[in-house]
Order: sequence, then C-alpha cells, then structure tokens
Amino acid sequence: MDYEAKFEEAIDALKAEGRYRVFMEIGRRKGAFPNARHYDGDAERDIIVWCSNDYLGMGQHPDVIAAMEEALHTNGAGAGGTRNISGTNHYHVLLERELAELHNKEAALLFTSGYISNDATLSTIAKILPDCIVYSDELNHASMIEGVRHSGQKKLIFRHNDVEHLEELLAQSDPDVPKLIAFESVYSMDGDIAPIKEFCDLADKYGAMTYLDEVHAVGLYGEYGGGVAEREGLMDRISIIEGTLGKAFGVMGGYITGTKNIIDVVRSYAPGFIFTTSLSPVLAAGALASIRYVKHAGDLRVKHQERAATLKQMFRDADLPVMESVSHIVPVWVGDPSLCKQVSDELMQKFGIYVQPINYPTVPRGTERLRFTPSPNHTDEMMQDLVVALNVVWESLKITRAA
Ligand SMILES: *Cc1c(COP(=O)(O)O)cnc(C)c1O
Repeated sequence: MDYEAKFEEAIDALKAEGRYRVFMEIGRRKGAFPNARHYDGDAERDIIVWCSNDYLGMGQHPDVIAAMEEALHTNGAGAGGTRNISGTNHYHVLLERELAELHNKEAALLFTSGYISNDATLSTIAKILPDCIVYSDELNHASMIEGVRHSGQKKLIFRHNDVEHLEELLAQSDPDVPKLIAFESVYSMDGDIAPIKEFCDLADKYGAMTYLDEVHAVGLYGEYGGGVAEREGLMDRISIIEGTLGKAFGVMGGYITGTKNIIDVVRSYAPGFIFTTSLSPVLAAGALASIRYVKHAGDLRVKHQERAATLKQMFRDADLPVMESVSHIVPVWVGDPSLCKQVSDELMQKFGIYVQPINYPTVPRGTERLRFTPSPNHTDEMMQDLVVALNVVWESLKITRAA
C-alpha cells in the first residue's frame, strides 16, 4: 500500500471541490483589535479582522489580561494534572461557581473546550439513560453530532428549528423511554435563533430532557450575559446549558451547567473530562475575570447589537446579499465554494480585509457565504471601507446581489 498516495488523494479531492482549507496566519494586537497583522511567507501587512468570535473584544480586556498575569505569576503555567490527580485548581472551583450562578443552576463543570463539553456530556448523559432517544436539530454543531454518536444511542434528526417536526418525532416514540432534545440557541452560520420556549413545552409534554448549546450567545444575550435562555426567562426550563469561554468571553475552555446530579454524573463518567489535563489556571483566571466583567457590561451588549444592525443596514443599502439574521451574525451570500474563496482572497490581497470563506461541510453545499462578526471595536469607518471593498470585488467577480 502506498500510504502517502492515499493521503494525497484525499487532499486532492478537497482541492478539486474548492474546499481545501488554507489557514490565515495572523498576529493579534492587544489593545488594537480588530487590527491585526497578516503573515504570508516573508510578507507582512496590517489587516482588519472581520470574522473573529472574540465578539466583544474581551481577549484584550485589561481586567482579563491582569487576571491572567496574576495567575501566571502566582500559579505558573499549567494545571499540573487531571482534575482528579492534583489538577483541580482554586480558579477552576471559583469559575465553576461563577458559571453555575450565570445560568442560575446548581452546579457547573469545566472542560478544555466547548467542543469537548458537548462531546463528553451528550455521549455520557445519553449512554447512562437506558434506550435513550436523542432528538437533534439537523444544523447542530459537529461536536454535538459526535457526542450523540459516541453515546451509541438512537438519534432522530428534526428539521432545523421545526417545532412541528420535533413533535411528530416525539409523538411517534415510546412514551416510556428516556428522551433528550439537543439544540442550539444562536446558530452561528445563519444567525437565526431556536424557538426555545416551544421546545421546552414539548419537552414537558413528552417527558424529555433539554440540552442547549449557548456557545454563540453566552456573554451576548440576557441581562447578565447568560444567553438567549436568560433573555427569554427560560434558563430554569433547560436541563443542561452548555457554553464556551473561547468566544464572547475571549479566552478558552468550555462548560456545562445543570443540577448537582447531572454535573456529578458527567464529572464521574465522561472520559473526555476525566482523562485529560485540566485547563491552565491562567486561562481559568482569565475566563473568570471576563465573566465577572461581562456580567455587568450591558452597554457592551447594546453596542455589539448596534454594530451588527448597522453593518446589516449598510450591506442592504449597498445592495449586497446580506442573509436574514436575527442576531449579531452577519452572513453574506455567495453560493459557490471557489467563488467564496476567491472573494476572501481578493479582500485580503487588495484591501487588507480578512473574512474567512465558509464552505461545506460547515454549511450545506450551494450556500457558501462570508460570515461577518462586527464587534463593539469595529468603527463606522471600517464598515464604510468594507462596503467599498465588497462592491469592487462583487463587480470584478460578477457575483449575484440577490440573497
Ligand atoms: C465553536 C462551537 C463549539 C465549540 O466551542 P469551542 O470552545 O470553540 O471548542 C460548540 N458549539 C458551537 C455551536 C460552536 O460554534
């Protein structure tokens, strides 16, 4: 067997389809976000980042930086072990307490990423419930899909945000088997939001548990940044709320919150939690400082929404195909993988504007798009420059202006 040839073949298949991933090498500039530096071989240039998930710029916040410096100089670099073997740091405990409070739950559990938190929790919870059926939104994140798969339990996929379809599937199932409905609040590629209340009503009616991924909503929605469920007064109706510390909180790590028993069972049974070195105390301290700040930063949330609304309106006024979105996500339709990549390349090369092309499998084929995430740090001037650049590229590549 020519192993190398096999690997090359697999890579060539991606290239032929125009979805081979090229990573942009950037240097972030603390205090100047979204300004950054692009490294391209020997060449370097200043750029504006338009696709970061550091939604509020908390990755450079002085409180966060100071907390991380303090933790680094008192605790050192790493946690030094798994949670069970010398790796439960004081910062982890403080952070879990803070997270439980943020979502008004009894307890919380930290993971090294949001991905791991979804995979570890869904697989463990569904596996522990005998013959559990998992009802999963068709657009759920890869980490949730993997978690359900690893549970080995039966999965029923309901059409995206479709209450009727979910009810149809629930009604067909044996009323006596355990059920888990898994979905997200803000879907990050379209910017739409799940009908959380209606899903909770169905969960009550059919005796199901609910699992809500609020990764793209924590820090951003609700009076204290608890997410869409907080905004809608529904946190207590969700069995497990999952989130990340790597997006709006600007640091790294993932977590779940729920009842003491749920947290204890995942803590005790999930390999993805047990057999890995715990989060660096430096990261935990940074995340803790970030949450404490963001909790009381309603003004930042207002500004964030205003920036997104302003950019959407500017795109509409310029007749650019901005997609329907009820959140802070601003997707612009291209509809072709090669073209999408080409737009992104031209924006970078000619204008120093960085927006990553979003292609399959992140979004369905034929719905390729650019996904803009304006933060409170993106100015009117940056937006005007962006619109000018997009218009030039749209003309030169003859792209449709219909969303
Ligand atoms: C990014 C993302 C995750 C994973 O979170 P990380 O902390 O980046 O690992 C989980 N769910 C959704 C919906 C995401 O977009």
